[in-house]
Amino acid sequence: MTSTFLNQLLNFPSPFIDKSSKHKICINLLNQVEVKEFIDSQHEAVQLQIKQTGFNGTAGTQTILRDEDALVKTILIGYDDDLSIYTLSSVFAFIQDSFSANFISSTTFTIDEKNLDTDQLDKLCTGWGIAAYKFDAHKKDKNAKPAPLLVWPKNANQDFITAQVSSICLIRNLINTPPNILGTDELTQVAQEVAKKFKAKTKIIKDEELQKQNFPLIYTVGKASPRRPQLVDMTWGKKTNPKLTIVGKGIIYDTGGLNLKPGMYMRDMKKDMGGAAHALGLAWIIMALKLPIQLRVLLPIAENSVAGNSYRPGDILTSRKGLSVEIGDTDAEGRLVVADALAYASEDNPELMIDFCTLTGAARVALGYDIPAFFSNKEDIIDSLRKSSVEEHDPVWPLPLWKGYMKDIQTPIADLCNDGKGRAGAIYGGLFLEAFVGDDIDWVHLDCYAWEQTGKAGRPQGGADTGMRAIFKMLQTRYT
Ligand SMILES: [Zn+2]
Repeated sequence: MTSTFLNQLLNFPSPFIDKSSKHKICINLLNQVEVKEFIDSQHEAVQLQIKQTGFNGTAGTQTILRDEDALVKTILIGYDDDLSIYTLSSVFAFIQDSFSANFISSTTFTIDEKNLDTDQLDKLCTGWGIAAYKFDAHKKDKNAKPAPLLVWPKNANQDFITAQVSSICLIRNLINTPPNILGTDELTQVAQEVAKKFKAKTKIIKDEELQKQNFPLIYTVGKASPRRPQLVDMTWGKKTNPKLTIVGKGIIYDTGGLNLKPGMYMRDMKKDMGGAAHALGLAWIIMALKLPIQLRVLLPIAENSVAGNSYRPGDILTSRKGLSVEIGDTDAEGRLVVADALAYASEDNPELMIDFCTLTGAARVALGYDIPAFFSNKEDIIDSLRKSSVEEHDPVWPLPLWKGYMKDIQTPIADLCNDGKGRAGAIYGGLFLEAFVGDDIDWVHLDCYAWEQTGKAGRPQGGADTGMRAIFKMLQTRYT
């Protein structure tokens, strides 16, 4: 692997500038009340322009205003008061569609911040930043339109915006990079690079060492691939701070194993390390903004491959925790690698554990592509995460750890089975993982899709952050 690879993965857009160029265009957000005052304050010619377009501040609409020399001066954006990070992503796309590359390069954009607070400005600028994201390193014919540059608003929190944009783009880059480029060693190398940036420590347990140090599930899932399984253990922060451990499922490719996936379900399985991508993205923001916590990140990394030494349906494995698992389905490998990581994490008794996994198709059947399912063993965490999810426009929805379904993941000949007998697939995944969480440890499990299916403003089709911002907001509330 070359450093070009790392540079591509850790290179994030920054479509911001400190000062205006000679020609600037002001972006003015107006709701349906503010638009009336705005019109009243304008010259007759401008009033006429607005009247002709019919712009009235409806959310999601925009119009361009020109001065007497026909130069574009202002872009009016309609919004409702509930601004999301994607509000300005749409404006970014509108600018790229409406103007020539030359015009965009010679112009800077500003936001009229009169009616906006810091929180709103942070959301707007984050949306502008991620709208500049492109995954085109492997394309000869790159999009020729440059990113429009936004002058940093005075009251925006630049550190927060930069950290959030970097984190989201890191998640996307990691998921979008296919396994022939991002193998198990390479994913570990990215984690080490992130650790280096923030002076975190890393320990890597690899291949046969996993066996020796008692991580049988991680080893077994990954043993059939020439890309050897490994566990990244990253630590950061003061020992006196509350201890948070984040676990991310890092299956760099999931063929399903001997229970081979049909082609259409295998096609996008490069995204099965989306949990590890989320864990690294969340760690990035936490470390960049120096949250007062003692952070640990555990990434069980493996490729679920087919070979003569693949694990089989019917095998009985003994986990790190000592619980035996009968393999019902080799395609339910995520919960196996994460189970060993959760058991390991529990041994040093963190205050909170969070795991991100692209775990079940059942979570998508329940909630669709856009809403990760989450589970927690603490009611107050469920309330807090739902609240932060709404505030951040980053939807997540709780499902129950319904103990009545435990019988569905039990088997007569082992302590647990890795697939369930009924229809509640996402809940089975949650219940299975809960069995490896230490007593009295607060825990959240996110069953996320980590993928944007169709493409929306600021969210191109492909790798996507799903639930990460909501979790970060919850952590901010909990620890600051
Ligand atoms: Zn699988």
